[in-house]
Amino acid sequence: MNEAKRETEALRELAKDLGIDLFGVADLRRLQGMPTGLDGGPAGLTGMFRFAIVLGAQLHKLGKKATGDDHCLFLERAALGISGYLEGRKDRALIVHPEDEFDPVRRLGLLSLKVLAKEAGLGWQGRSLLIVSPEFGPVHRWIALLTNLELETGAPMENRCGDCSRCVDSCPQQALKLVPFADHPERREDVLNVSACRGDDGCLACLEVCPWRPDPLPESIEQARSAEL
Ligand code: SF4
Ligand code: SF4
Repeated sequence: MNEAKRETEALRELAKDLGIDLFGVADLRRLQGMPTGLDGGPAGLTGMFRFAIVLGAQLHKLGKKATGDDHCLFLERAALGISGYLEGRKDRALIVHPEDEFDPVRRLGLLSLKVLAKEAGLGWQGRSLLIVSPEFGPVHRWIALLTNLELETGAPMENRCGDCSRCVDSCPQQALKLVPFADHPERREDVLNVSACRGDDGCLACLEVCPWRPDPLPESIEQARSAEL
């Protein structure tokens, strides 16, 4: 086993011990030309760091009463655990947090966690633009750490949406457009009208109808749905 593989496997085990459900590594050099957020490409974070360690947690793991803040805190603790490990390897990591929104109007952070998760091979980008994993459908949240420690990267997954367009058809705001794309849309705005989307107000329609979602839906999501109704 080479050194990069050994380090990756050690991190995977650590992430598992920290309760993380999905672990992968994205090669930041592959992000050229993708809609990655506000980062300035090679002149920005993707030029300063070589890899992104991506951690995913299924949304029902913290039980019925868990809120969005609880999920963020859980992911943050896991990321700090990984960051401590990297410091022990004399490597500094930068955490890309799910709540980091540097442009609240366009709802953009520096680097898109969805793009990082897709590049790490943890799922494909569905027509809702959510990342859909074979294990949990679109029902998870992400956090990432940027690092220069040499690691083994994942391979992006093929899109498995097939002929499905349920998320687009069921959006109560008509915020999603049915735009054909194999891996990712050229621009997020081609698919999603960000100002029309009510995801921050508890709308879960595009997630709820996805045939890849766990069945039944996690109770925490059912609760959010009834609270919304
Ligand atoms: S969260 Fe709701 S409003 Fe936003 S795209 Fe999904 S279904 Fe549409
Ligand atoms: S609902 Fe259908 S089209 Fe939308 S992400 Fe899920 S599988 Fe893809």
